[in-house]
Amino acid sequence: MIFETGLSPAVLAAVGLIFGLLIGSFLNVVILRLPQQLNDVWQRDSRDFLGLEPISTEPVTLSKPASRCPNCGVSIKPQHNIPVLSYLFLRGRCGACTAPISIHYPLVELMSGLIAAFFVFQYGLSAITFFSLILSYSLLVLTGIDLHEKLLPDQITLPLLWIGLFANLSGTFVPLSEAVIGAIAGYLSLWLVFWLFKMITGKEGMGYGDFKLLAALGAWMGWQMLPMVILLSTAVGAVVGIAGIIFAGRKREATIAFGPFLAMAGWIAFVWGDKILSGYLAIFNL
Ligand SMILES: [Zn+2]
Repeated sequence: MIFETGLSPAVLAAVGLIFGLLIGSFLNVVILRLPQQLNDVWQRDSRDFLGLEPISTEPVTLSKPASRCPNCGVSIKPQHNIPVLSYLFLRGRCGACTAPISIHYPLVELMSGLIAAFFVFQYGLSAITFFSLILSYSLLVLTGIDLHEKLLPDQITLPLLWIGLFANLSGTFVPLSEAVIGAIAGYLSLWLVFWLFKMITGKEGMGYGDFKLLAALGAWMGWQMLPMVILLSTAVGAVVGIAGIIFAGRKREATIAFGPFLAMAGWIAFVWGDKILSGYLAIFNL
């Protein structure tokens, strides 16, 4: 299913880039606001359950209140809200109080833009592009939230699992049977590691959000890709963890979120997994 536009791949990629930059602005809002919103709901529910006075302030949503500088509280002007460009123009500082703005914002926008350009260039306006963008953007948001809050919200991981199964209902990426087994095996494999680790060391090495994320990745790319995702994510996670201890003086007990490694390894396996697998098999002449 490809929607023919008659445009050259390069023009499509440029349109995709602009579209992706704008989506990136929205993803930044989700990364910042979704945890606040969840916390807000949780506090309201807890107070209600305990029979305490309800909170009188307006609930936080994705659209309200309007974006403000966290330092001076001044609303961000529309002309200062242009993806990447505003950040460069303002030299990474708030237009009102010149407090530094996190590099995370333009980075997310840039990655979002490049991701859209990449898929549109490769697959045009197709079902593959549409679903690939849903997966990529979800992984980007999960990475951002987990880095800041050490949390992989069910509100993203669970729909991601179902959408993956839905995409593969017609075999967009893998046959449905491989997707279903992938979802089950993804959850169970990390769940098993979690309990073994807990029984041996008495510590909890990761969270339930990690199991759900790997289940979702299995639903998108089938069970065959799971070993690669686990190997890649633990290898990179171990390198970053050890580097943190050696160079940044982190304590051995300090926790690092595993979700970003899972998400990045998942994306690499999603895009280049087949090539990596066939290259690996060729090296060993299997
Ligand atoms: Zn400011």
